[in-house]
Amino acid sequence: MKKKLLSAILATAMMATVLTGCGGSNEQPAAAPAAEEPAAEAPAAEEPAAEAPAAEAPAAEASDSLADKKVGVCIYQFSDNFMTLFRTELENYLIAQGFSKDNINIVDGANDQATQSGQIDNFIAEGVDVLIINPVNSSSAETITDKVVGAGIPLVYINREPVADEEQRWVDNNWDVTYVGCDARQSGTFQGEMIVDLGIDKVDMNGNGKVDYIMVEGDPENVDAQYRTEFSVKALTDAGWEVECLSDQVGNWQQDQAQAIVANALAQYGNDVEVVFCNNDAMALGALQAIQAADRTVGEDIYLVGVDALSEALENVLAGTMTGTVFNDHFSQSHSAADAAINYLTGKGNEHYIGCDYVKVTQDKAQEVLDMVK
Ligand code: BGC
Repeated sequence: MKKKLLSAILATAMMATVLTGCGGSNEQPAAAPAAEEPAAEAPAAEEPAAEAPAAEAPAAEASDSLADKKVGVCIYQFSDNFMTLFRTELENYLIAQGFSKDNINIVDGANDQATQSGQIDNFIAEGVDVLIINPVNSSSAETITDKVVGAGIPLVYINREPVADEEQRWVDNNWDVTYVGCDARQSGTFQGEMIVDLGIDKVDMNGNGKVDYIMVEGDPENVDAQYRTEFSVKALTDAGWEVECLSDQVGNWQQDQAQAIVANALAQYGNDVEVVFCNNDAMALGALQAIQAADRTVGEDIYLVGVDALSEALENVLAGTMTGTVFNDHFSQSHSAADAAINYLTGKGNEHYIGCDYVKVTQDKAQEVLDMVK
């Protein structure tokens, strides 16, 4: 009896992590804003930098001193499209700054915190000079920080922001620990604004006075998922629009999961689905497969937005088969992460939060951004 009850509770808990439900937030605790909080209002950073920032050559002295430094890089999962762009750029930029390729060790956490924790232990045992970590579970940051700081190694977190209390510890203790990332609220706002810019008459195709939407969320371990979900819809309600959430589910950043979620939602809600919000482009590409399989046409009878500006998504934006995406600047983030590592190694130090801006990408900007990312 007890066993049954326990498995019922476990099953419910598991469902809760998959079906987030409309209107409510998901089951993860809200990550509090960063210690040095980025602007609550999304800055209007709509202009992409003209050129992808070039990996500038470092001063001879700095590069000499970096050549024998060892960098350990932990990525939460190599198969993630966005993190693949990120780590490739990170490695190239570190080399351009004077690190030796042989001294840069980038490892795959395979989306498993135990695996990643073992990798961190190995890096500490090897005596790396600096660590750059994209945690599998943001909630493990406290343990990771304690280990790494305890070993006297400076630490740069990327992509999955630890909670505010954790960031506050770095400030309070003046530890060599920082976080590099963009404020995901801005990306959500941009997604919503791209829909608002179409005008309510175009979007409310079933004429019920509301925008009926499907939300496909990323892995709740990354606060980006939660913020994009919340702020995309908020941009609609801030514009005075009424909204109706038809389905809100976790697709874990994965194309195949999003395809299944959107296929089911389209089968269930049919022509009532007016907008599909996806927390990233990989999932938007899955959503597009489902949309096309259901004989629906983006831009005519449904709208679709993602985040990241993957090349394939940009090509779809250009072709009109995606309404828009938001450039998640892996150049700026990877360069800032490497620069932060260098600042620790050269004794300059860093702020405990290093931000960057997203860029809104509709059809008219897609070519420009595609030229930059290709
Ligand atoms: C990106 C996603 C990616 C995730 C990994 C997000 O910022 O938008 O595409 O899967 O980071 O944690």
